[in-house]
Amino acid sequence: MLRGMPHPDTRAKVIIRHVPSYDPQRIRTVVREALEELHLRPHGRTLVKPNVVAAGPLFEHAHTRVEFTEGLLLALQDRGEGNLEELAVGERCGITVPTRYAYEAAGYDPMLERVGVKRYCFDEVPQVEIPLTHEGRLRDFLFTPEPVAKADFFVNAPKFKAHPWTTVTFSMKNYIGIQDDRHRLIDHDHALNKKVADLQYIVQPQFIAIDAIIAGEGRMLTPIPKELRLVIMGNNQVAFDSVCSRIIGLDPHDIEHIQLAHERGFGPMEMSEIALSGDVTFEEAKERAKGFRCGLIRVEKYFEGTNINAYSGPPPGHDEKGYCWGGCPGVLEEVIEILRLYDTECDKKMPKIHMVFGDYKGPLDIRHGEKVVFIGDCVKWDGQIDGELVQITSKYKDRSGIDPHDVKANDIYVKMAAMTAKIMEAKKRPFIRLDGCPISIAEIVLLLSELGGIQNPYFDKRQIVGFNRSYLTWRAVLAWKRMRGEPYQIHGATTRGAAAPELP
Ligand code: SF4
Repeated sequence: MLRGMPHPDTRAKVIIRHVPSYDPQRIRTVVREALEELHLRPHGRTLVKPNVVAAGPLFEHAHTRVEFTEGLLLALQDRGEGNLEELAVGERCGITVPTRYAYEAAGYDPMLERVGVKRYCFDEVPQVEIPLTHEGRLRDFLFTPEPVAKADFFVNAPKFKAHPWTTVTFSMKNYIGIQDDRHRLIDHDHALNKKVADLQYIVQPQFIAIDAIIAGEGRMLTPIPKELRLVIMGNNQVAFDSVCSRIIGLDPHDIEHIQLAHERGFGPMEMSEIALSGDVTFEEAKERAKGFRCGLIRVEKYFEGTNINAYSGPPPGHDEKGYCWGGCPGVLEEVIEILRLYDTECDKKMPKIHMVFGDYKGPLDIRHGEKVVFIGDCVKWDGQIDGELVQITSKYKDRSGIDPHDVKANDIYVKMAAMTAKIMEAKKRPFIRLDGCPISIAEIVLLLSELGGIQNPYFDKRQIVGFNRSYLTWRAVLAWKRMRGEPYQIHGATTRGAAAPELP
């Protein structure tokens, strides 16, 4: 039996349990019972992948809560006693932020020490090349952190959230965090759903447990909390994500990454092929999630009634109705919500700004003195701004021309310096252009906080000391590893857990 496959005696199963609060002992019991029901016993190198994309007092609902992960780890220890070579947690948080900072801000460090579990920061370990051969793949190989490639028993522990780029982030989408920055941003554009589907070939989890005690509506970094009081568990990602989608009233066939993974044999989507159990019925779970808000809103609509006018044309290779769901427009939506958290006066302070994406052919409704920002490599526009003829041409490079071996990650302080230069330029001209595919959240945060005179989150006194301490340690660790000659990339490997599971 290949690692990554469910137990041969079980079909795809989803277990829905009532968990009223973040009590680690209650979570431990519920998870242990699920492991027993699924006939699963953690063994060898067991790795848990939570979602710690962002953490800290303002991002309380963005991540898998520490109490949840504690209960899960305790249950894995209970069930894996005597079989565990290593029990570890691994994650790459939101790009440019050191993962060690996210762990600290989420309260993971003392918990991991107490429970006796190893911590991996995926931005500080070698990245292993995994070959892909399936039809329809975006590229011939992907990189993933070494602990993922070496895992014998892989546990996915996502947060139950809406997502402005992929509709939802349940189990499959949590795989974006099994890539470090430079590899993660490749194909993180209008092909994002396809990328998530390709990532499934790296590893399949034997066990999934999602934190849906307080779920997140609307957005991924600053979600609106919604109490579902649920822990949902399962043994197959496609089945799992299909059930979770239906709980919030969505048809999983409309969610591209779930549909694609299903078509490629990763698991069933139909309820008739998925065994449900637990102390909460599917109907009751749906009732708890009634009215759950998803975040798939086009950028023009999102900013209606604010001082930001957004204009979006199609990304390359799309007709005029096309939209880059996985890229720059969604970045702007996440950014404004972050800025609103840090500065309650954000919308009042924001001057009139026009943000243009993709191949936009329409007019811009600009008055004298207002700034225009052209965003992303693919942006194109011709017209007049303040009497000046402006021609913005696409710098988009086809994805086939990007080699994951050579891409570089951008340091946050390098980004800050580059953005400062851009802002100086913006002070002299009515428009600027920001390159990137996609542009990063950090860059737009820096730009808008500067142009709007809004509190810059990177300089927020609640986190500046912790952030910089983590940043300096992170850079020091990487420099030390380089000095010791440790490779950043390892080639020609395969994972222990890769391959589509075969379900009975
Ligand atoms: S530049 Fe931005 S909008 Fe254009 S394809 Fe890339 S991610 Fe999408």
